[in-house]
Amino acid sequence: MTTNHINNTKKIAIIGGGPGGLTLALILQRHGIAATVYEREAQDGNAQRGGSLDIHEDSGQMALKEAGLLEQFKAIARYEGEDFRLFDKTGKIYMDDRAEDGEQGDRPEIDRGVLCDLLLNALQPGTIRYGYKLTEAAAMEGGRHELHFDNGEKVTADLVIGADGAFSKLRPLLTDAQASYSGLTMVELHVDAKAYPDQAAFNARGKVFALDDNKGILAQLNGDGKIKVYLTFTVEQSWLDTCCIPFDQPKEAKQQLLAYFDDWAEPLQNYIRNSEDLVLPRRIYMLPVGLKWEHKPGITLIGDAAHLMSPFAGEGVNLAMRDAAELALAIAGHEDTDQAIQAYEKKMYEYSAESAQSSDDNLKLMFSGNAATNLKALFDELYEQFAQ
Ligand SMILES: Cc1cc2nc3c(=O)[nH]c(=O)nc-3n(C[C@H](O)[C@H](O)[C@H](O)COP(=O)(O)OP(=O)(O)OC[C@H]3O[C@@H](n4cnc5c(N)ncnc54)[C@H](O)[C@@H]3O)c2cc1C
Repeated sequence: MTTNHINNTKKIAIIGGGPGGLTLALILQRHGIAATVYEREAQDGNAQRGGSLDIHEDSGQMALKEAGLLEQFKAIARYEGEDFRLFDKTGKIYMDDRAEDGEQGDRPEIDRGVLCDLLLNALQPGTIRYGYKLTEAAAMEGGRHELHFDNGEKVTADLVIGADGAFSKLRPLLTDAQASYSGLTMVELHVDAKAYPDQAAFNARGKVFALDDNKGILAQLNGDGKIKVYLTFTVEQSWLDTCCIPFDQPKEAKQQLLAYFDDWAEPLQNYIRNSEDLVLPRRIYMLPVGLKWEHKPGITLIGDAAHLMSPFAGEGVNLAMRDAAELALAIAGHEDTDQAIQAYEKKMYEYSAESAQSSDDNLKLMFSGNAATNLKALFDELYEQFAQ
């Protein structure tokens, strides 16, 4: 393992303690480079945000290897979570892929909270400062930045990295690009799989996609036995404000949501009927595909802050972790930090643009006419390419 003595004298600030920021701090730590993570939440909140994630071999798993956690990850990852079933609204089944028992695929699942706990447990105590919400950042001479936090603290950093997600506070220092509404709004529900064995059997051990009429019911079994369900609507950005669904009154909200799927097959509707009294609406945002910025010394972005995309390539967390690994290795491998950042940015623009494009293509395909037929055709094409 290389140790970069020059960088050890520099103060590195990472804004955001999501999967990207934590992976970055850990890989830097393994190369003897200290960094501090500033996280706005009062304590780790990763378990509460988002569900099961499939961790890809060439990105997320590559980063875990660099973080020294690949074996630990493999011991707890859910390989059976690669089950995938595809339906249209009538309940006609288009795909029913089941992971072979005991076989290790290349995209095993792990819950976001469990993944972040792995990273957190390996970090040196004191690496993360909770309750530090960045409110303002100002460029100073020599690539340094003054960072202001909402708790009144001020920090000066030689290098600041924005790992602060979709609405990054650091992004405006590099580009005018803003996250825009993708055209999709999701409503998240939860079904206790143990309480509904029929639903659990229908869902199998992984994901179900039911796509039709420019809508979707997307379901995913998590490691805690809950099925996370995302009702997905192609609607105006203002829909959540104008649809009159009382999201804070779950029973009534679920009745009204069911009406949007009144001609869908019963096992699909049951995802709504069987769900708990928690209804979480969220709009899906994205940055322009292929976003780049003019390099500036002393600052860069990783993860959603750099290339927020819709979740339909299943790449978001994988890219955040790959960015973290690429940046940490570049910093450890260059005497000149500025050259390291430029090398990272050049590489990241290329691979993230590809993923952002396929995520956008998949979004259009999955919420257009004949979505189930078209998605099946896309999978067939990919399998064929893979087999060659
Ligand atoms: C519904 C949905 C489903 C998804 N499914 C998948 C999937 O199946 N597979 C996949 O790979 N990806 C998926 N994603 C995307 C994935 O969750 C993100 O791409 C990933 O979490 C990005 O990691 P990150 O570390 O860059 O940012 P985040 O996970 O967003 O972390 C950012 C961190 O920064 C903190 N922060 C924000 N602002 C500030 C501030 N001002 N000061 C200090 N701290 C701040 C936040 O509290 C947070 O801890 C999904 C996303 C959604 C919305």
